[in-house]
Amino acid sequence: MKVIRTVRELRETMDNHRGQGQSIGLVPTMGALHDGHLSLIERARKDNDIVVASVFVNPTQFNNLDDLRTYPRTEEADCDKLRNAGVDYAFIPTVEEIYPEPDTRVFDLGPVAEVMEGAMRPGHFNGVAQIVSKLFAWTMPTRAYFGEKDYQQIAVIRRMAELEGFSFDIIACPIKRHDDGLAMSSRNVRLTAEQRAEAPLIRKTLLESVGMKETKSIDEVKRFVEDTINASPIMRTEYYEIVDSKTMQPISRWDDAETAVGCITVYCGDVRLIDNITY
Ligand code: AMP
Repeated sequence: MKVIRTVRELRETMDNHRGQGQSIGLVPTMGALHDGHLSLIERARKDNDIVVASVFVNPTQFNNLDDLRTYPRTEEADCDKLRNAGVDYAFIPTVEEIYPEPDTRVFDLGPVAEVMEGAMRPGHFNGVAQIVSKLFAWTMPTRAYFGEKDYQQIAVIRRMAELEGFSFDIIACPIKRHDDGLAMSSRNVRLTAEQRAEAPLIRKTLLESVGMKETKSIDEVKRFVEDTINASPIMRTEYYEIVDSKTMQPISRWDDAETAVGCITVYCGDVRLIDNITY
């Protein structure tokens, strides 16, 4: 595996592989890698001749400075994991390399970016669009891989790709979980033992709520999920929305969407956890 630190080398290397007719799979990450990230890489490895993973904690998508400051950074361990996973290139740039000057672009991301994470974290999705559009333009992959853990993010990236004219495949990969159901996340390492023990309640509650679909309304199911999680002394639901899987817009009746997805954000202490489930 080769570590690439400059945009110039990334572009030249990718141009070279593309020129030879090789397919390229891109897996963008912010590092602190776990098996969730590695499942994306495994899929990219199966589908493509060349796999490039990026590791970059993108400041423009953090709307909370403390979150940016405390975000885990584990470059050496990340490189070991990427190497073992069969990645060809790890793109690990500095902030100055990515943003030699401030990125002032504002993307017209539309309704998919206005609700849930978009409403709670102003500017977050614009920052995601900034970094992912750069990675897309520099790499011009055959396929790019994203996790369904960030369900809304995939819809936003599809929208950005449409706006910018990127026509390659954007591939959504299933959520990887710990044995107790908690979705893997780089932020999980910040949970105390007590919080870690309580966090699987999120998945357990969502699973239980799926069984209620036939007999309960959307409002009733939402209330059940919020009340059950908020009954925990150390967890607080920030939002729980049941949305159309395509438009990300909240629905009020089950029939309003072909596929309904429940998206949740929970504070466990000061650690912000997200998860989702398909109904
Ligand atoms: P992050 O490093 O958190 O920005 O995540 C990089 C990519 O990995 C994103 O596309 C995430 O959706 C994906 N990802 C993160 N956690 C998981 C997980 N538990 N299962 C599957 N994909 C994940």
